[in-house]
Amino acid sequence: MSEVVKETQTPPVVMSGMRATGRLHLGHYMGVLRNWVHLQNDYTTFFMVADWHSLTTKYEDTLRLPEYRRDIVLDWLGAGIYPTKATLYFQSAVPEIAELHLLLSMITPNKWCETDPTLKDMITSGELNYGLLGYPVLQTADILAVGGSLVPVGKDQLAHLEISRDIARRFNHTTGQVIFHEPRPLMTETPSVIGLDGRKMSKSYQNGIELAFSEDETTKAIKTAITDAKRLKKTDPGEPNDCVAVFPWYQTFTDASTCETVASECRAGSRGCMDCKKQLAEAVNEQLRPLRERRSNYAQDLSQVDAIIDAGNTVAREKAGATLQKVRRAFNLV
Ligand code: SF4
Repeated sequence: MSEVVKETQTPPVVMSGMRATGRLHLGHYMGVLRNWVHLQNDYTTFFMVADWHSLTTKYEDTLRLPEYRRDIVLDWLGAGIYPTKATLYFQSAVPEIAELHLLLSMITPNKWCETDPTLKDMITSGELNYGLLGYPVLQTADILAVGGSLVPVGKDQLAHLEISRDIARRFNHTTGQVIFHEPRPLMTETPSVIGLDGRKMSKSYQNGIELAFSEDETTKAIKTAITDAKRLKKTDPGEPNDCVAVFPWYQTFTDASTCETVASECRAGSRGCMDCKKQLAEAVNEQLRPLRERRSNYAQDLSQVDAIIDAGNTVAREKAGATLQKVRRAFNLV
């Protein structure tokens, strides 16, 4: 018997999520959200705020979790995710996922979780808690609960998805019932935006531009970007390739001819770094303006946002409930 469910869903279901750890920045937009905006047009899409996953590492202080969850949805809506196209929901509002996680954990060998590359160091240091060890199983439940057959991933997340495929296959084999698709990766180009200090853009480094920033906050943040350290005076010839954060942002946010002009003026020493940053800030603000306007409109009507989430929760629960019922039957629990 084939252990793979033939995909009959039209269009296929794409499932993805984000942990609720605060407002999103430009790196999230370029790396993930822009892709989601395209995907919602071609697939059935389920986008989940992974609030349980947030607890695997941030369980001590959850006071701001409700705010973080809603902020993320506001950022998604601002970025152009349409609730009429995609289902947006909270993981914790779908308790069926938790039961599916439990049932899938019964058939998942510890070793599959212990060899997860992101957990290896924690296992060695003895810092791993039970919830975090089970992260790959919970993630599998997230995907399979809503019938996810495609998961957008970058190269570094392929190993996670491989565990989900293994669990789906093992479930089908163990129960002799072919219930799950083996979720496949939807490989995405994830252009990473370097942080203003030259490190990876990250909330914890505070080196990014939040999508919800005002234009002034954006300009102020860009003023702190690290440039070519050899340039001391405006007339010193610079080298754009040694410009840590500003020139790479030009390459991401402006066209080729602008980059050419910036590079040649920089090399000729006819462009000051402060003016250069000011021009960059204008370009970034221009690109983010429509997103921010949409976000701000939604932020002024939070009851509408809550209604969108409630509706998404209901759809996800129905879908997950149907999946769970099949799994319970397969285990002779009903
Ligand atoms: S002029 Fe622009 S590109 Fe050149 S070092 Fe300064 S900020 Fe970077």
